[in-house]
Amino acid sequence: MQILVKGTKSKRLRANIQSAVNFYATRLMSKKVRDKLKIFVDVDSSKNHRTDCYGECDPLGRNPITGMKEFRIYAVHRPKTIPKEKNNIFRTIAHEMVHLKQYATGQLGPYLIATKSISGKRLTATRWEGKLYKTREDDSDDNEYYDSPWEIEAYGREIGLYRRWRKSRGEKE
Ligand SMILES: [Zn+2]
Repeated sequence: MQILVKGTKSKRLRANIQSAVNFYATRLMSKKVRDKLKIFVDVDSSKNHRTDCYGECDPLGRNPITGMKEFRIYAVHRPKTIPKEKNNIFRTIAHEMVHLKQYATGQLGPYLIATKSISGKRLTATRWEGKLYKTREDDSDDNEYYDSPWEIEAYGREIGLYRRWRKSRGEKE
């Protein structure tokens, strides 16, 4: 597994992110899956606040030369402008690593699929555990976001992963 952190000059933050990504990956995936991963972590420490999105996980596909499955994780880190309880980069990364596991193991499909309902309404769908999971295209409804099985898993696991990582370093939760 390769981890590349950019977007911060802090060596300490980079080392801590490496440690967290390693820890989360070990708890989420088998060695066989982990060994084929290349993860780019893009830290956003800029002052301007881009919406309320604190993290993202984008599957970049398989590199044809190295055979590695590549991913980009975007994570906001603004301890000076956003209080830590609202923006904890290590907890954000734990959440995004759950999505990375979902993509890397094929549990979650990487693309939105356009479909049509019986009444002809345009729908989009995501493949989850082999089944199509429909979402409306004009989905501005937060409930659907929180109810999707991949978000339930990510929200459910982020805190436990984060706490165990802290504990493994002898830090308080
Ligand atoms: Zn999520």
